[in-house]
Amino acid sequence: MKKNHMHRGIVLAGMISLFLFVSGCGFMQAYQEIQFFAMDTLMQVELSGKKSDIEQIRKIVEDLEDDVSVTDVQSELYQINHRTVSAIELSKPIARLLNEELAITETTNGALNPALYPISCAWGFTTDHKRVPSAEELAALLPKTDWRQIQLSNQNLTLPDGMELDFGATAKGFASDLCADYLREQGIKHALLNFGGNTYTIGTNKKGEYWKIGIRDPWDETAQGMIGVLESTNEAVITSGSYERYFEQDGVRYHHIMDGTTGLPARTGLVSVTIVCESGVKADGLSTALFVMGLDQASNYWRQYKGFEAIFVTEDGKQYYTEGLENRYHPTQGQKAEVIRL
Ligand code: AMP
Ligand code: MG
Repeated sequence: MKKNHMHRGIVLAGMISLFLFVSGCGFMQAYQEIQFFAMDTLMQVELSGKKSDIEQIRKIVEDLEDDVSVTDVQSELYQINHRTVSAIELSKPIARLLNEELAITETTNGALNPALYPISCAWGFTTDHKRVPSAEELAALLPKTDWRQIQLSNQNLTLPDGMELDFGATAKGFASDLCADYLREQGIKHALLNFGGNTYTIGTNKKGEYWKIGIRDPWDETAQGMIGVLESTNEAVITSGSYERYFEQDGVRYHHIMDGTTGLPARTGLVSVTIVCESGVKADGLSTALFVMGLDQASNYWRQYKGFEAIFVTEDGKQYYTEGLENRYHPTQGQKAEVIRL
């Protein structure tokens, strides 16, 4: 079967699933869909519920975006990064986000580091002026990224001078958690949130089947190809890939996922990491962290901590997926794939 023909009924980054809908499945509530632009990406939501539900989803995402923008002077994150005192009281959602992110920072020993913002800025990933910073510049910035100095107690945050945070690695996953909380409270049984390829599934699709999530082919420039399809329900499915944001200089490609020990884009032989678990923050945070760790360390992390499943794609075009996905992940025909076992 040709790759393009496999798209039917499958949701992939940047694509709404136009073919999912078959009528007459006993749905009590109308089917709603919306697409909007937020957090630098296209957000697509489909659910069976009221129009007000989908409007509320949009509001939750936009409110969070207002809080975590690094550039909007009104945002909570901007206030944190431009503080005049070292101790700040956070809002409840941002305290929850930072608390959940720091839990992953600790277990991954800083592979996920919310304090890498000065490094991302030096590379110009936060602006349109991407550049390769000098070794001296990076060496001067690295001491400002010591996540062990972040002190968070309930809503009280204390940061050392010069430290700046960024929730780029977890905000979309967190947005999906807030939305999923809301949808569950409303008793919604069928919903799919696709936040720029970061997906969250609730219940089943209209046909009563598990949602089908396409895992993006990192080498397909059209962003439409997939390397496999995952059947999913009630969980986040989130991918970090070096193809998402990058630039080239003197024939070298530099991407946006940073190794906090060097200040350089992480080069570990991986091109993408997909994490599957109930928490969006955890899936988003771990997808970034395990990318930084590389396949061997990441597999060991999975063996030690469990509580999530993963799909890794390596530079040599092979994929590895954890055994919990064995019955519901289907690599595309012709893909070299291996199962990681305990
Ligand atoms: P993601 O696409 O979820 O992997 O997140 C990447 C974004 O998170 C980047 O654009 C940066 O804003 C930020 N980031 C990059 N490297 C790291 C890291 N090692 N830990 C935490 N955040 C990072
Ligand atoms: Mg992430």
